[in-house]
Amino acid sequence: MSEAKQREAICTIGASIFARGEGSSGNISVTTEDGWLMTPTGSSLGRLDPARLSKLGPDGRLVSGDPPTKESFLHRVMYEERPKTGAVVHLHSTHSVAVSCLAGIDPEDVLPPITAYYVMRVGRLPLVPYFRPGDLALASAGRSFAGKHHALLLANHGPVVAGSDLDAAVNAIEELEETAKLYLLLRGAKIRYLTPAQVKELMQ
Ligand SMILES: [Zn+2]
Repeated sequence: MSEAKQREAICTIGASIFARGEGSSGNISVTTEDGWLMTPTGSSLGRLDPARLSKLGPDGRLVSGDPPTKESFLHRVMYEERPKTGAVVHLHSTHSVAVSCLAGIDPEDVLPPITAYYVMRVGRLPLVPYFRPGDLALASAGRSFAGKHHALLLANHGPVVAGSDLDAAVNAIEELEETAKLYLLLRGAKIRYLTPAQVKELMQ
């Protein structure tokens, strides 16, 4: 895909995430032939301008466009630990953030296997401990999970998902958000989760 098309794709997907109310202040990045494209700091996903996206070189420095999101380090961690990553999406989407604030969730696998698509697109979701905004200790905490997991949930903050391309990353983070919503809807109810055998079949 040409860089112009990649720029359009980021803005189109940002607008669609915004339209669905899944968070205006998240951020998106994709790999290009010579570095990365990333959403700029302070930008709303609903009003991205293709020409102003941050273009970063192979060393991560700004080549053109507006300065990148202050959360660019989260994206770097995913690309560095998962070499086949083509795109990373991080959202402050309401239901996923709500789940990330619950006491007593399993930090090794936050959401139970409610649906097949969740198991196939997200799988096991670890909770990364809380750090204040801008604390680079969050990068090292995330790094310790990123090699084994393409989807992470940051405590009291939101999800970060890596994919082979932008569609894969977006599909997975949307499945995560929908599953978080279902999980909250079903709290207190007796739930029939997928069995370990059913989960194993999907993982293969
Ligand atoms: Zn964030």
